[in-house]
Amino acid sequence: MRLLARAIDGLELPAVEKISESQQQDPFQVLIATLLSARTQDATTLAASTRLFTLADTPGAMAKLSTSRIERLIYPVSFYRHKARHVKATCQMLVSQFGGRVPTTMEELLTLPGVGRKTANLVLILAYRSQHNICVDTHVHRISNRLGWVKTNTPDETEQALYRVARDRWWPYINLYLVTWGQNVCRPVYPRCPACQIRALCPRIGVTTASTRRRATA
Ligand code: SF4
Repeated sequence: MRLLARAIDGLELPAVEKISESQQQDPFQVLIATLLSARTQDATTLAASTRLFTLADTPGAMAKLSTSRIERLIYPVSFYRHKARHVKATCQMLVSQFGGRVPTTMEELLTLPGVGRKTANLVLILAYRSQHNICVDTHVHRISNRLGWVKTNTPDETEQALYRVARDRWWPYINLYLVTWGQNVCRPVYPRCPACQIRALCPRIGVTTASTRRRATA
């Protein structure tokens, strides 16, 4: 993790991290941006989130938008129709059941439509500065297995395994470091192993092909 902390310096940050930084860790914007980010390119998530927040930056204001308006604003994020329904329903629930605020516990966050452990963990880490959560997405799941930190089949299994094997001081940083590394170097297909600064520590479990490019930036 110390090597990774140095290695990601200067690389492009994940979209939700950028939104969180620019919006002073606003829990609502972190929540909505994370909902939009699933299976979507970062640039698309950033642009869609910006369009949406320009028009409505509170749960109350966003709940008043029609689903079709939200669809048009967030297009072309993947599954934009599905996500628009979740965004609207989540905003309605924030207003009706949580006083217009994003809840601060995992249990409450998981009651929101479309919110799973990944989104809930990221909100707790980025917006509420939790030191007790690990957010696992596909990058964290893939790289943790390639590095041999865990041997798991699903992101949820990886999250639980990481609580057991990773020092707790690193828990809030695992997502930032591994997502940044996964987007720039340890990509799903053709990871840039020749250019990887943690290669000496990596058994490359499950990696069958690697890019021959040595440059470590996207
Ligand atoms: S050596 Fe290859 S598989 Fe291992 S972390 Fe680096 S890029 Fe990923």
